[in-house]
This record gives sequence, structure tokens and C-alpha cells, in this order.
Amino acid sequence: MLGVESRKGVLVIGGGIAGIQAALDLGDMGVTVHLVEKTPSIGGRMAQLDKTFPTNDCSICILAPKMAECFRHPNITLHTYSEVKEVLGVRGDFAVKVLKKARYVKEEECVGCGDCSVKCPVRVPDEFDLGMRRRGAIYLPFLQALPMVMTVDRDNCLYLTRGVCRICERVCTREAIDFEQQDTEIDLNVGAIVVATGFDPFDPTGLSEYGYKRYQNVITALEYERLACASGPSGGHLIRPSDRKPAERIAFIQCVGSRDVKNNPYCSTVCCMHATKEAILAREHDSAVQSYVFYMDMRAVGKGFQRYVSRSEEEYGIQYIRGRVAKITEDSEGNPVIWYEEPLSPTPEKMVVDLAVLATSLIPRRGMEELAKILAIELDAYGFIKTASLAPFDSSREGILVCGCCREPVDIPESVAQASGVAAKAAEIATGGVR
Ligand SMILES: Cc1cc2nc3c(=O)[nH]c(=O)nc-3n(C[C@H](O)[C@H](O)[C@H](O)COP(=O)(O)OP(=O)(O)OC[C@H]3O[C@@H](n4cnc5c(N)ncnc54)[C@H](O)[C@@H]3O)c2cc1C
Repeated sequence: MLGVESRKGVLVIGGGIAGIQAALDLGDMGVTVHLVEKTPSIGGRMAQLDKTFPTNDCSICILAPKMAECFRHPNITLHTYSEVKEVLGVRGDFAVKVLKKARYVKEEECVGCGDCSVKCPVRVPDEFDLGMRRRGAIYLPFLQALPMVMTVDRDNCLYLTRGVCRICERVCTREAIDFEQQDTEIDLNVGAIVVATGFDPFDPTGLSEYGYKRYQNVITALEYERLACASGPSGGHLIRPSDRKPAERIAFIQCVGSRDVKNNPYCSTVCCMHATKEAILAREHDSAVQSYVFYMDMRAVGKGFQRYVSRSEEEYGIQYIRGRVAKITEDSEGNPVIWYEEPLSPTPEKMVVDLAVLATSLIPRRGMEELAKILAIELDAYGFIKTASLAPFDSSREGILVCGCCREPVDIPESVAQASGVAAKAAEIATGGVR
């Protein structure tokens, strides 16, 4: 620790990898950090991924130690299940109101054993597994969640919606359930604010040409990540949702909603690489699997990325087919049929596969517009936070800094690099450094 004497703390909004890294760097510099995360656990999207390109590290295995460090750090206070409601003041002196939602569970008593969830009579789609699994109305978002504390989902709990049940209360041997809990407001005074609210995957249901939701064996790349994951809804087996048979021919369709003037004209930057990774993983799961990546042009611009793509072709036999997919239909056995045109071919081609995986664009998080109003910062034409070329981490309001996918789509190494850059700037502001 550098042990800089902190005049004021820093507020970090968003507990994904970018927010976690920014908080850790600041904490290690001796700066007091308040990390506000909207959902019940820190971790963000990286917690949902199976492996990470270009090293194929297990995503949660490299993320969990950072989450734990953040959770235990003496200079970091986590405010999970919380949202920023008001920001007044100026650079160096912001007054912030945070709303902490009631979990209806005592954080100091609950150990996350999950007995209450097993006995809960309600079953609703689990957000973490993108609806491919169901959870109780009292739940832990995922196995490695931090804090490891159950949360009662107020929209689905029978007691909170209809005044009946309270089974969780009877089951909990630690008497951790507390239906008297109320939402609380927390006042913070900080010198700088770091926004790291990340991205949402684009919903391709409206793009009828791909048949998503109409055909069961057309899924998104994030759904595929959950299927490939050993702790995911299929126990890591790459099976077709329609009949649970192993998928042996898999098509990865690139630029779904990206580089498309009708939807999101920008490049989402991570899809060429995550499709390559997902195709490699399929082969590693089962050497009989054949994967095809349908792409417009390959964007492998990060460190080690081109070598990763070359290895996927040479060592894993992944086939890259250049051409935009025009449509996906379904044959009588529930197999997706990919219709595509190759640049030099005069006729459209078609390929029958077991599973089609859509690499959907990365879009700003839901609620970004509302947060931008609270923070009084500007968004760009696509809803990401506006920054300038020579001030890439500065928002339009002095003292409010930006990193990770809320700025633009970026991969994990870039999110981490930006987070460290932002932390250095935020520390300078919070500790009253030179301007
Ligand atoms: C299918 C897929 C596969 C990928 N595979 C890889 C890979 O292999 N390697 C790689 O490098 N990258 C990969 N990526 C990209 C990677 O997911 C991102 O780079 C990374 O998650 C960005 O982290 P982040 O912290 O910016 O955002 P996020 O992970 O989105 O985290 C943002 C956090 O902010 C919280 N939040 C949002 N709004 C608010 C609010 N108003 N208040 C408080 N908290 C809020 C969210 O709940 C979340 O916890 C992949 C992406 C996809 C879609």
C-alpha cells in the first residue's frame, strides 16, 4: 500500500471487473472507496463467462480472488443491492445519496447456505443463467456471489406480494430472515466518482431473420457461455435446448445487431474473439464437434489475438466462412439451417447445423439514461458515456470518470487497463493532487 493520506473518498458505480479493479487500485493507494453495485453481488458479466480469450482461463477462477480481495479490503466499503439516487456538488466535493434496497435478510447472520431457497415454493427464471434454470424467490445469484448472502426477490416472494408463506423464516436456523427490513438511504461525501456500469447483450428477438426465440436451437453467445460452464444449467454439456442431444455441428454467427445501420452501427469489438473461444471450447468438450464461424471480417487486434485465431484453425480445425448470414430457418428435425452468401460465390449457400449461436452486440446497460441524468453527464449517439479522444476517461462533468464497457464495448484486459488509469486520476482528485 502506498498509504496516501485520503482527504475524501471515491465512489465507484458498478461492481464488474472494471469497477472491482478501480476499487482495488484505489484501496491499495490508501484511498477510501465506496463501491455501489445495483445487483445483490459484485462480479458483473465476467462471472457469467465460462473461459476467457485468449488464454482460456476459467473466468470465475480468475475473477473470484479479485472479488474476495475487494470484499475484504479495509479501504473498500461495498454497497450491494444499492443505487445512486442523487449527486450534488463539484469535482473534489460531491454529496451522494445511495439507496440500499432491503434484502429482507440480515447480512451479518446469513451464510448463504441456500436451505431457504431449496424450500421456497416459488420458481422463477434465473437471471444469471438467462432463464435456462429456475430459482426460488429467495436466492443467491451464483455460487461464488459476494457478499454470500441470500436476497428475497420482492416481486416474486409470496409473503411480500400476497401476505402468505414465510417458509424461509421457519427453515433458517440462523434466524437471518427479516421481513421488517426497509430500504435505507446512505449519504456519502466523495472527491471523485468512477462510473463502471458495463453493458447488456442486445436482444435479437426483433431480428426475425435469425429466428431467435422462434427456434429453440438458436441461442445467444452469452447463453452458450452458460451452457459451456460446468456450474451452468446443463452441467457444462453442450446440448441442444430442443432435445438435449449433444450439439455436433455448431454455427457461430457474427455481428448480430452490430455493424448494422438499422440497429447498432458500431463494432462490438469482442465478438470475433469470443466466437473463436467458444468454437475452441466446443472442440475441447468433444473432439467430434465441428464449428463454423460466419463473419464479415476478422477483428483480432489485441495482444495474442491473431495467434489465437490461427491456432483455432490449425489446431482445432475451426472453419471461418466469410459472408453475412441472410437468414436462419429450421428443418423438420429442429435443426437450424444457415443461409449465407460467400463474397465470390454467385449463389446463396445453406448449411444444416445442430445449434446456431448468435454473437449479439454489446449495448449500454438498461437504466444508463436515468443514471446519466442523476450524474448530469452526457451520453454519445449510442447511449455509451461520452468521452473525448485526448481525455478518454473524463465524462462531460469534471470529477466523474469512466471505464470499461459503459464507455464503449471492450474486452476484459482493456477494461482492467482502463480501470487502473481511472483509479490513478480519481486518486489524484480525491487526495487533492495538482490539476
Ligand atoms: C458472450 C460474451 C463473451 C465474452 N467473452 C470474453 C472473453 O472471453 N474475454 C474477454 O476479455 N472479454 C469477454 N467478453 C467481454 C467482457 O464480458 C467485458 O469486457 C467485461 O464484462 C466488461 O466489464 P465491465 O466491468 O465494464 O462491465 P460488466 O461486466 O457489465 O459490469 C458492470 C457492473 O455494473 C453494475 N451496474 C450496472 N448499472 C449499475 C448502476 N446503475 N448502479 C450500480 N451498478 C450498476 C452491473 O450490475 C455489473 O455488476 C465477453 C462478452 C460477451 C457478451
